[in-house]
Amino acid sequence: MSDSESSSANFQSSPLRRADVRFSKHPRAKRYLAKVDREGNIVLTVPKRGTQRDALAFANDHRDWLFEEQQKARAALVDPKRLRGLQRGDRIWFRGERVELSIEKDWGRPLLCFAERRVYIADEDMDLRRPLKGFLKEMAKREFPALVQSYASKFGLEVKKVVIRDQKTRWGSCSTSGTISLNWRLILASESTRDYVIIHELMHMRRFDHSPEFWALVEEACPSYREHERWLKRHQEELAW
Ligand SMILES: [Zn+2]
Repeated sequence: MSDSESSSANFQSSPLRRADVRFSKHPRAKRYLAKVDREGNIVLTVPKRGTQRDALAFANDHRDWLFEEQQKARAALVDPKRLRGLQRGDRIWFRGERVELSIEKDWGRPLLCFAERRVYIADEDMDLRRPLKGFLKEMAKREFPALVQSYASKFGLEVKKVVIRDQKTRWGSCSTSGTISLNWRLILASESTRDYVIIHELMHMRRFDHSPEFWALVEEACPSYREHERWLKRHQEELAW
């Protein structure tokens, strides 16, 4: 049997909700305005007699454009970092939270610290991407296979092998021979987003496409899947270091 693969599909953009935007009340504004600021936040201007609800509806009419602008703003923010790599003071995603990278010393040996984890490094001024990636990839290798197996048995599926991969934007794949591949970067996402990707790939063992029938299986197994697809898509740039 040949291995064909299928990746997490790009989602159809889901509606913006209150938590996704910031409101700014402008007594002199004559109409609703939506823009994306330098940090990538969606800012909605509400005119004097306007409501947040209508501002949100307005933004939703333009959401594809807003998402695009948001990606551009975020890409511009991370770009300088990409050139110099990761350094102390930079923040990365870890388990769905932004955490700061700091350096401590242990008897003179530099230690990279984040989220109560410590990793020995060769030099405090080095690009921290390499040691971090090594550490996080190992963590993924220790955690993900057991998780996949436990979800597989929950759904009565048989997984032969779990492979941890290093890819910039592909979160997972499933082969017809029963191998599930997962991107170590899922350790940067929240546990529920990580679990969604696992479930998504497992559902491909029942249905090997992205048909509506497939998405119905996903939704049944993980009702909040849209939220996770959206999170991954929105933070793609920031996870691709
Ligand atoms: Zn898929």
